[in-house]
Amino acid sequence: MVLGTYKEVVTARSTDKQIQKIAQDGGIVSALFCYALDEKIIDGAVVAGPGEDFWKPEPKVAMSSDEILAAAGTKYTFSPNVWMLKQAVRQYGLEKVGTVAIPCQTMGIRKMQSYPFGVRFLADKIALLTGIFCMENFPYESLKTFISEKAGVSPELVEKMDIGKGKFFIHTADDVIALPLKETHGYEQNGCKVCLDYVAELADVSTGSVGSPDGWSTVLTRTGTGETIFKAAVDAGVIETKPVNEGKFGLEMLTKLATQKKEKAMKVIDEKKAMGLPIPYKASSEKEDPLANI
Ligand SMILES: Cc1cc2nc3c(=O)[nH]c(=O)nc-3n(C[C@H](O)[C@H](O)[C@H](O)COP(=O)(O)OP(=O)(O)OC[C@H]3O[C@@H](n4cnc5c(N)ncnc54)[C@H](O)[C@@H]3O)c2cc1C
Ligand code: SF4
Repeated sequence: MVLGTYKEVVTARSTDKQIQKIAQDGGIVSALFCYALDEKIIDGAVVAGPGEDFWKPEPKVAMSSDEILAAAGTKYTFSPNVWMLKQAVRQYGLEKVGTVAIPCQTMGIRKMQSYPFGVRFLADKIALLTGIFCMENFPYESLKTFISEKAGVSPELVEKMDIGKGKFFIHTADDVIALPLKETHGYEQNGCKVCLDYVAELADVSTGSVGSPDGWSTVLTRTGTGETIFKAAVDAGVIETKPVNEGKFGLEMLTKLATQKKEKAMKVIDEKKAMGLPIPYKASSEKEDPLANI
């Protein structure tokens, strides 16, 4: 199960034209949180909001659709959303919290829920955990290098960044600069080299761009909660779906990338193990199926 356990996988997008315009892909994260807020399934969501520096995200507790939408779009550096969860409950008084997380953060949240030492007040208040796919992440300094030095663009002019087709794209109002990924190679966060999860296997709902056409997202519903909320949003007309393409540019591509990520990380883990260095627990190529759920 290279893609983790899931109930259904579809291609989907928000039906809201404004969300379509500002979202990274199909706007699934924003559409789901706005719907869940309207329906009182959550009373707020921790998102990666804009920070003081351009493209440096800051975790925010969003309690209105406007605040959700202000955080739309991918920032290719860390947003410590998990750190904000405690404040969402303690300072904002939320009882039903939504949050968006990259796979490593999703793992942290599930671990916190399974072993809630010192966070019992929070563990059962996570009402919707939306996971986003992640191949790698970059320190903010790396991002600044890509934008200012490699692309020669002022960060405040950047409107969007995305990765696809072997390139890191930097969009401004009137230009798109494509850096081949070999230019960004070596700038990744070191810890990502031992990461075995591409598709946020432990989320309620996972989503990403790979496997679907531009402007659409691939969505995997995983838990009962995720399935119920996603289906309700589709029934309400907030999200539209079509069958995921099983072929070369669909599920096959997603499976291929998830497998490559796991195999590459497993190799690094094995090397570390041979050197007596610490490794992520439970990860071992000696397991019967090393690519199974971690
Ligand atoms: C570091 C990184 C690497 C990624 N790599 C891949 C990949 O290899 N393949 C792939 O298919 N997809 C990848 N994605 C996911 C993809 O870029 C989109 O985030 C995803 O498809 C959701 O798009 P959307 O239109 O549904 O979301 P939107 O409606 O645009 O909302 C995006 C949500 O993500 C949150 N967010 C933005 N940046 C971060 C961050 N750094 N950390 C946590 N939350 C954040 C925002 O707060 C917002 O709520 C990556 C995302 C990140 C952050
Ligand atoms: S590659 Fe893994 S460790 Fe790195 S940011 Fe993405 S989910 Fe986290």
